[in-house]
Amino acid sequence: MAYEKELDAAEVKAKARECGADLVGIAPMDRWEGVDMQHDPRYIFPGAKSMIVFGFRIPRGSLRGVEEGTHFLNFSTMGYAALNSIYGPMVLWEMNRFMEDHGYEAVPMANVGGGEAVNPLTGNFRKGWSRPVKPGLPAPDVSVDFRVAAFLAGLGEFGYSRAFLTPEFGPRQRFAIMLTDAELEPDPIYTGHICDRCMECVRNCHGNAISSTETVKTTIGGVEVEWAKRDELACSRAGREGGLKRELSPFDGNYPRKYGYGLAHEGACGCIRACMVHLERRAKMTHRFRNPFRKEGWTQWEVDHSRPYELPEEVLRDYAGNIESHDAYTNNNINSNYGTKAAAGLIHDNASSGGVA
Ligand code: SF4
Ligand code: SF4
Repeated sequence: MAYEKELDAAEVKAKARECGADLVGIAPMDRWEGVDMQHDPRYIFPGAKSMIVFGFRIPRGSLRGVEEGTHFLNFSTMGYAALNSIYGPMVLWEMNRFMEDHGYEAVPMANVGGGEAVNPLTGNFRKGWSRPVKPGLPAPDVSVDFRVAAFLAGLGEFGYSRAFLTPEFGPRQRFAIMLTDAELEPDPIYTGHICDRCMECVRNCHGNAISSTETVKTTIGGVEVEWAKRDELACSRAGREGGLKRELSPFDGNYPRKYGYGLAHEGACGCIRACMVHLERRAKMTHRFRNPFRKEGWTQWEVDHSRPYELPEEVLRDYAGNIESHDAYTNNNINSNYGTKAAAGLIHDNASSGGVA
């Protein structure tokens, strides 16, 4: 098939928005100059001319149940896992077809980890993990930092917490990447300032993972950037991987994983939600809502696990005769959140009030 006309950036962006991306930015591949080879996507597709970065908004409503302290699954699924593992790949597949149908090769990269030769949490090289297939090549898998990619594609800036902030949604989006041999007009690197160093992220970081005094400076795409020194392990333990810091979680048992993600409420509970509320109050985001996210008189809920577990009066009243042991019926390791008959050993005839039997 002969291809008469080159695609231009405007056509690619229009298609991306039609496919469901909220944000689209384009960077030439040479903006990656200076990054170490284990993080350099040019080793994934040496013929790539451009990187397209897609942003997908995190629904503000996925944080509502976290704000109220009554529902956490919406954030870990609709605000996190499903965006990275389902919605992003769907847009990538559609865009991939579009690029291929115009004669371009495109490498679709969803924001799902797994094979990296460098531990994404510690930043340490994993000795014994994999071997370069030729001298001079990085060890598989090369991993691409999606926030760096978004920065290079002009979508926004790094906030003090290292959360990525865009003028449209503040900290409320996730990203996917496409490398392509199409030569597309790049977007300029963003030079505005969304983060005002309010330190709300630090004050609301229950994992003490964001230093209030020490920062890290680096150069990305020729631009000097600075963010707080972070303790990624503390962050992960505190909640991103499932609320291991028990006092941050209202759940007494393990929280089930959804699409590979655990509770993931800490970002929503801590830095992300605090940042979003702050930027909303300062009218720093171009995407606005009719009603403020945080209501007057709101106070942060806390969970005191040192108190013995007690059944509230309402539960005793509403579920009289229909109360079962958490251990008996929930089994996170065998089948699903709802367990199995065999694992449970008991099922009340009338225990299916949620339709779960
Ligand atoms: S909470 Fe404040 S200091 Fe932290 S990233 Fe957001 S705007 Fe910046
Ligand atoms: S996710 Fe939680 S622990 Fe990690 S930096 Fe944000 S507030 Fe701190």
